Amino acid sequence: MTNPNAVISDTQSAIAMAITGGVNNSSLFSPSIANSPYNINLFSRNKFPKSIENGGMAKNVAWVDAMRASSPTRNHSEDGEEKKGWMVKHPSALGVFEEIMSAAKMKQVVIFLDYDGTLSPIVENPEQAYMAPEMREAVKNVAKYFPTAIVSGRCRAKVYNFVRLSELYYAGSHGMDIKGPSSRKHQKGNQNVLCQPAKEFLPMMTEVHEILLEKIKGIDGASVENNKFCLSVHFRCVEEENWGDLADRVKGVLKDYPKLRLTQGRKVLEIRPTIKWDKGKAIEFLLESLGYGNSKDVLPIYIGDDRTDEDAFKVLRKRGQGFGILVSKIPKETQAVYSLQEPSEVMYFLQRLVAWKRAVARNH
Ligand SMILES: [Mg+2]
Repeated sequence: MTNPNAVISDTQSAIAMAITGGVNNSSLFSPSIANSPYNINLFSRNKFPKSIENGGMAKNVAWVDAMRASSPTRNHSEDGEEKKGWMVKHPSALGVFEEIMSAAKMKQVVIFLDYDGTLSPIVENPEQAYMAPEMREAVKNVAKYFPTAIVSGRCRAKVYNFVRLSELYYAGSHGMDIKGPSSRKHQKGNQNVLCQPAKEFLPMMTEVHEILLEKIKGIDGASVENNKFCLSVHFRCVEEENWGDLADRVKGVLKDYPKLRLTQGRKVLEIRPTIKWDKGKAIEFLLESLGYGNSKDVLPIYIGDDRTDEDAFKVLRKRGQGFGILVSKIPKETQAVYSLQEPSEVMYFLQRLVAWKRAVARNH
């Protein structure tokens, strides 16, 4: 077994990951997961469920448990004591809005927004994850005052088709495909940004997409979305009894591709190149491109709902600049400072941001 593929679950309490083999020593490829923000060392070995280490059927159970845990509606209290305690640690960004904005005075606010589950509701069919017109209006207004980027797991073209605002930066495929705005709004920084750190993987991704389409045939409800630098195997519409079979088939394909790794998001298995690049790296790149690489006068705000957004939250914590906002109705382990419950609250937060900026402008 030489396959470095790993599974990363959506909740830390669940089986965080199942390592199925060794690591690739090439400097380009993560040496490997060890350097990933989802560092395996975060989870001490004795915390791994026996099922993962025993292999065989038991390993499959671990996969299914992890897939089950990625459903945000299961086994969690939305209003209980746990939630109250969590809200103390991660207050509502609306509740402490004034406090947040006092940190933004005299600084350039830069907005980073995830798409699915942040600007649009999570829906059964990922092709229909449309954003509400009012949300688009809110994002459009925000972009009038602040450099704004969409950072999504989807491919850049697809997320652009949903958002359709040419004045934004777009970082698709978990930040592996970045492009600046086609219309000029902000004077500072480079508008003609283009960054594709995993470009050499494109032929491999296309090949694996074709194979996966074939392999998952026969599993009702399973679909594969080609997000260019990330292949998303959706199991939202798959009967739970078939999740193990689906995971096995995906893992079977990846055995032949040690340079790809498997991670898990909300009701989705994702296959990505094992390069050291993620949403966190993407926002560092964008801040640099905007001319705020070493600036103290910038306040980045990142809003997202998924495990992959944690990489970005972590970067902001490390920089000691700005803050992450996790969109979640349920308590989750997170590096975000604040929280919002759902996309409608994200919209309200963005609207308040615009109103705040307009009020500041009026007073000067
Ligand atoms: Mg999301």
